[in-house]
Order: sequence, then structure tokens, then C-alpha cells
Amino acid sequence: MKRLSLPLCSPAKDAPLCPSSQPEMPGAVVFGVIDGTIERPHVTHLVQPLPATDEVLSLSGPVMPTEVFRIAAPCVGTGCKHFDGSNCRLVTRIVDQLPAVAEVLPPCTIRPSCRWWQQEGKAACMRCPQIVTHNYFPDAAVFGACDPNVYEASHSE
Ligand code: SF4
Repeated sequence: MKRLSLPLCSPAKDAPLCPSSQPEMPGAVVFGVIDGTIERPHVTHLVQPLPATDEVLSLSGPVMPTEVFRIAAPCVGTGCKHFDGSNCRLVTRIVDQLPAVAEVLPPCTIRPSCRWWQQEGKAACMRCPQIVTHNYFPDAAVFGACDPNVYEASHSE
């Protein structure tokens, strides 16, 4: 089965938050829950972030927390394959490749610290709710946006 896995960020002191992080990272918080459908997932933002404790993560049941939760944690910067030394290329591709799925800014509690927001502003937030960190059913556009090799290949043709 094709699986799309978004970045495994490691902690970095005072770094902005990566909004597609892994739950085992120190300081990780759950800030959204994926609902919608498999074909059209959509994040519902929590009123306030919850620390990604074992108890909270166990609420994902039999699936991985990153299949049903959006988790933020300090971004590792150059330790992540998506970071080019200045920018997060993942959100650059998301903004370039994916349609907006929100009509107004989502009520996202991590916005002041979010790297995607700091880098791309409203354009990131209008596309962000369709992102699932572990997505077993990405459509072609999502796959192309989130996999740098697929993206580069499609833009070199
Ligand atoms: S891009 Fe916007 S909506 Fe997504 S996590 Fe960052 S601030 Fe929240």
C-alpha cells in the first residue's frame, strides 16, 4: 500500500513549530483532529492544544496518531529533509500544488508559532486543513506536494 509520511522533526530550542510533526518529539502537542472522508480529509482544530501524552495519543485507537491527529513540535530545521536552510520546502510545495480548502483562516491555536504561517502566511493556512501527516490514500496532488522527489520530477518535465 502506498503510504505518504510527512516529516519526522526533532526538537530545536526556540524553533518555530512544525505543524506536521511526530508524537514522540519533546514538546509535541495535538492541535487538530482529522475528520471529513478518506478522499477529503479535513482538520478540525482543537480549542487549545493538548500535550501529546500517552493517554491522548491512545485515543487514536488502532491507527497511528499521525493518521488522525495533527501534531506540532519544534522544527529541526536542517535536520529535516524539507528544510533548505532558509525555508520549509514542504509548505512551499503545498502552497504551489494544492488548492485552498478553507474560505477563512482556520481557528488554529498554534498560528503565532507556526513555521508554515510564518513563511507562507494565509496561503498556508487555507490549504493546511487537508494535510494528514500519515496519509495512506493521498491523491496525486497531495502526493506530489509532499514528496520532494515526485514534485521535482513533475516540474522538470
Ligand atoms: S499553517 Fe496555519 S492552519 Fe496550519 S498549522 Fe500553521 S497556523 Fe495552523
